Amino acid sequence: MNPNDLNILTQIIKAGEGMDLSDIRTPGVPIFQTSNYLYEDVESGTDILLSKKPGHIYARYSNPTIDALITIMATLEDTDDALAFSSGMAAISSVMLAYCQPGDHIVSSAYIYGGTYTLFQNQLSRYNIDVSFVDPRDHQEIEKEIRHNTKILYTEPLANPTLIASDLSFWRNLATKNNCKLVIDNTFTPPPILRPIDFGADVIIHSATKYLGGHSDLIGGIVCAAKDEIATVRPIMKTFGPNMAPIIAWLLIRGIRTLGVRIERQNQNARELAGFLASHPKVNKVFYAGLKDNPQYELAKSQFNGYSGMLSFEVNGGWEEAKTVMKNLKTILFTVSLGDVSSLVSHPASTSHVYLSQEEREKIGVTDGLLRLSVGLEHVDDLKRDLDNALKKI
Ligand SMILES: *Cc1c(COP(=O)(O)O)cnc(C)c1O
Repeated sequence: MNPNDLNILTQIIKAGEGMDLSDIRTPGVPIFQTSNYLYEDVESGTDILLSKKPGHIYARYSNPTIDALITIMATLEDTDDALAFSSGMAAISSVMLAYCQPGDHIVSSAYIYGGTYTLFQNQLSRYNIDVSFVDPRDHQEIEKEIRHNTKILYTEPLANPTLIASDLSFWRNLATKNNCKLVIDNTFTPPPILRPIDFGADVIIHSATKYLGGHSDLIGGIVCAAKDEIATVRPIMKTFGPNMAPIIAWLLIRGIRTLGVRIERQNQNARELAGFLASHPKVNKVFYAGLKDNPQYELAKSQFNGYSGMLSFEVNGGWEEAKTVMKNLKTILFTVSLGDVSSLVSHPASTSHVYLSQEEREKIGVTDGLLRLSVGLEHVDDLKRDLDNALKKI
């Protein structure tokens, strides 16, 4: 029917509908802010749903903007495939649900993001999935914790917030020997700092909220892995529904394009600040793998390309002194997140690790006087001055 023969009320609905956009090419990726897609006939719809044929049918399953992001992330992490989630926690919980059945067991570094720790301890236990927490440096202890039903070994290559390094070659060998999956949260050390696939990681997770996005303007998560691993995780995404929104994928792609230059500057600034803080009279201790007196210096040097833009330091004193420093920082922003172009400071004991008991916190080095710094792209002299002024107030 000629569209002009339709009633104006129908034309309002139908005009321009289903336009073919396939011949439009642009340097950037457009947002397909769409929830469903037209398909040719009943058979092709079914084939797309059953993954027998490429194409899109419903945006919880796939979307062209998300597909572009997945291609980019799989390239960056050198894996065959990837999935995009609504948050880092959505990515982590989906991977756990994909690989573990009730009765299964996980061995995890105790030195992980507080939210992940809480997921493992308080939520997975409700599904009768048991988690043993280990010191990622204590290889004998880790081996001892392996059980016949251990399905996953989990760690962060540079741990939050104490920047403790895991020797990924050891973790890989242990996973192979015990037929477990090695799952790595690479949020703190995105490419070009580390590609966990080079050390044989099976599943690589990112909180895209942090370095990948880089501008504190989105929440997202990514899982990168080989095709058959992604095929294990995808049904969880499809049925539990923690998928990423197209506009977030679009923002994320924009952020990722500057990841290389951001990381270069952040690595460089963090290195200078670590040296500065290490010799500051109001600082007890600096946690940064790139300091020569760090016992893990050699491991970090061989495993990472740069030591990341993250560092932590313990002020002289406890909770009150940490608060004084945060209150007096002017250029460095007091907030919980990380990986932004702006330098951010956080107090792990009262934020990311608040759900842990004081004893649990102390055990993993999260003392009341510990501050975590996510170093941004500002001129390093301004950051030094800001830290110096604030520390002098103690
Ligand atoms: C922030 C963070 C997460 C959680 O990601 P969200 O995007 O906040 O859900 C997981 N792991 C690490 C290391 C993080 O820093």
